[in-house]
Amino acid sequence: MPISRRNFFCGTAATALSLTATKSMSANCVMPTQARQAAFTPQGAVNELMEGNARFLSGRPIKCDMRRLVLKTSTGQFPFAAVVSCIDSRVAAEMVFDQNNGDIFEARVAGNFVNTDILGSLEFACRVAGARAIVVMGHTECGAIKGAVDQVELGNLTEMLKQIEPAVQAAGPIDVRTSSDSEFVQKVADANVMLTVEAINKNSSVLADMVDSGELIIVGAMYDIATGKVNLIT
Ligand SMILES: [Zn+2]
Repeated sequence: MPISRRNFFCGTAATALSLTATKSMSANCVMPTQARQAAFTPQGAVNELMEGNARFLSGRPIKCDMRRLVLKTSTGQFPFAAVVSCIDSRVAAEMVFDQNNGDIFEARVAGNFVNTDILGSLEFACRVAGARAIVVMGHTECGAIKGAVDQVELGNLTEMLKQIEPAVQAAGPIDVRTSSDSEFVQKVADANVMLTVEAINKNSSVLADMVDSGELIIVGAMYDIATGKVNLIT
């Protein structure tokens, strides 16, 4: 049986909530409808995220009535993009891109790499649910990157940090491998983003085929925790 975008992963939480909207939304609050999703080109989806980051930086985000959004999205979701980012508490994609309920998928793991689980999640987000762009977003001063540089060993972290080792190697060689070298740490963070973009293309034929056919774009980005600005990196 084909998977329906409407019935796959659709929540029913809205039915348990009181959803009488009493406040009006700002005029530029757009409902995440199927028609809106379909109107996005892949590049347009990236542009929308960057425009959202500009709103975030300006301190004038779009104000939406979340209760109306919950009600509107209770029968299906039509997000236009997916973001792979770090678990860092300062790097919530919905906030830094000024997006609301139903707008974007977000996969978060310390060090923003991809594994089979995240690739499968992205395949769902794009191939099944219709997202038009994937943004892999690293950030400055990333603790996971620093941990990988310092070769930290702690519980499951030891194994997880091995996922970032290729980026450490790509950023090197370096005489003294230490996270106190902030320039090297940032080089590793940049390399890690680009290696993750490559890994998505290399390890997911589903997503690579979508890129080849022009249905999807995959880009890298770096979030500056000191300024709030997202820069695309190539
Ligand atoms: Zn991080």
